[in-house]
Amino acid sequence: MMEGTIRGDKARANGSRNSPWPDAYVSGRGILAGVKNETCPAELLPRLRCPACRATVAAADGSLACSDAGCGLRFPVVDGAPVLIDERHSLFRAAEFQDRQLGKRRPSRGQALAHRWLPSLDLNVAARHCATRLGELLFARASRPEVLNIGGKHAGAAMARWRRDARLHCIECDAVPGPGVAVVTDPRRLPFADASFDAVLVDGVLEHGIEPRQITDEIHRVLRPRGLVYADTPFLLPVHGGAYDFQRFSELAHRRLFAAFRPIEAGVSSGPAAALGHAIQSVLLAAVQGRRARFAMKVAARLGLFWIKYLDLWLARRPGARDAALGFYFLGERTDQAIDDRQLLQSYVGTSPDLYARAPTATTTR
Ligand SMILES: [Zn+2]
Repeated sequence: MMEGTIRGDKARANGSRNSPWPDAYVSGRGILAGVKNETCPAELLPRLRCPACRATVAAADGSLACSDAGCGLRFPVVDGAPVLIDERHSLFRAAEFQDRQLGKRRPSRGQALAHRWLPSLDLNVAARHCATRLGELLFARASRPEVLNIGGKHAGAAMARWRRDARLHCIECDAVPGPGVAVVTDPRRLPFADASFDAVLVDGVLEHGIEPRQITDEIHRVLRPRGLVYADTPFLLPVHGGAYDFQRFSELAHRRLFAAFRPIEAGVSSGPAAALGHAIQSVLLAAVQGRRARFAMKVAARLGLFWIKYLDLWLARRPGARDAALGFYFLGERTDQAIDDRQLLQSYVGTSPDLYARAPTATTTR
């Protein structure tokens, strides 16, 4: 998952994005170049909805206006990307993007070099297979599938091939502007009509959500019947993203977020060995203070610990890995019937003994 992040960012930095969408969609570049563009791409406009009341929106003087007179919200367009945020249900404020207060922090030269050349601690053992399976399922449903990529800026490498594939429409949204982000939004209130996508990708996102169930409810809403979801979310991973990191999920907690989806495939995406590498790095980082010392320790940790992840090639498929994985994936299909919590318990496949033992017969001694 994290390795994917690095590769995805690299691909964009090299300008290798081959999107079927017009150049205007490759928004966010203006932030880096200092160019101002307040026009929402015309092709995108009919797809958009007000995140507060879900009415249509229309262009109005360099911004977008909700068509519902009772709502009347207006939304700015920053570098060609509409900022459709319902501030009553978000940590973000549109004004922060207009003023360029908030956006992707550019790494220092040292950080960028380290990011590019140091070996990663991560190994996603499932992503390649999942991307192939997702493609098979998608093209069996639609000749030109429409895909929403939530947290588009950070999606993993395996799924990146679908973002660049000209046979599908992929719209990328993120909570902050950046290269490749077509729509800036908080995924708790997606600014799209009901049943408007064939698939939604949500890779390395749910842990950053303050109310992750609202995000998965929104994914369910914007998917067409039998629409597909692919999620990859960490379990045993130290805090990343600073203040914007709120959750971790066991495999069953992750499954419960997608209660109204039929699982197609699910399991360990990054195993316990990768989790161990991160845990050791965190212990080492806790021992030093100051930015330079932390950076030096991080370089040493990455060079000394990168090999640990390869143990997951052997470990990740074992049942015990389900209790100590770095992260889990879920590939599922939208249904109208939700799994209940009693059924959920039956889906546990790890090796930890149950907290509440169930006696084979109801005998009691007093
Ligand atoms: Zn509205």
